[in-house]
Amino acid sequence: MKLIQDNLKKIIKKINNIAILNNRDPKTIRLIAVSKNQSIDNISKVASLGQISFGENYVQESIKKIQLTRSTYPNLKWHFIGLLQSNKTRLVAENFSWCHTINRICIARRLNDQRPNSLPPLNVLIQVNISNEIKKSGTSSNEIFNIANQILSLPNLRLRGLMAIPKIEKHYHKQLDEYKNFTKLFKNLKNNFRDIDTISLGMSNDIEAAIVAGSTMLRIGTAIFGTRDNCNNSNRN
Ligand SMILES: *Cc1c(COP(=O)(O)O)cnc(C)c1O
Repeated sequence: MKLIQDNLKKIIKKINNIAILNNRDPKTIRLIAVSKNQSIDNISKVASLGQISFGENYVQESIKKIQLTRSTYPNLKWHFIGLLQSNKTRLVAENFSWCHTINRICIARRLNDQRPNSLPPLNVLIQVNISNEIKKSGTSSNEIFNIANQILSLPNLRLRGLMAIPKIEKHYHKQLDEYKNFTKLFKNLKNNFRDIDTISLGMSNDIEAAIVAGSTMLRIGTAIFGTRDNCNNSNRN
């Protein structure tokens, strides 16, 4: 099935076009292929085209994929983008390059303590609840500096920026305004902390607004792999 490969090429072209139209260097935007609920076979199809970064939401499910793709694709970078429970931090610390979903300092401390010395520091992002939705995970914007300061004292973590999963707005301009506010939070953080270079924002349905607002990491699942078949996988956790 060539469909997934075609989708990937289309998405890369789309990202490049939007970036150039908005005076952004496409090289500053990293595509994370979100492979939750996807088979090893589908992941391999995407990896075979040179896609390096993959995003996973469920710890147990992802470890198998990481281990089974390692021999064929040793360069893959795995990004944890799901809600992280404290009893699952060790597997993330041992197997991932990035964790996008730091929302409280105790999770960061555990990741720091459990990160093996043989690996470079784990890149982390603070997840911000920018839409202030009650049921969404993420810290409030006035907690960002507090958490960032504490992460600085953890040598096995490297704070790189912010991540958000905003609610999708019907109106493009409303969406864009919200994203630009998020970018302001990022700039403020960048002005006060070193190594800050990453805004993880944008999924299949809001690619344009995310790029226009300054996102540097797009997390794209459906637009690459098609609709997820949730029945396919019995190993969610
Ligand atoms: C599933 C997921 C995505 C990908 O969403 P699509 O709409 O399928 O592109 C991105 N980010 C997070 C945090 C997700 O859970």
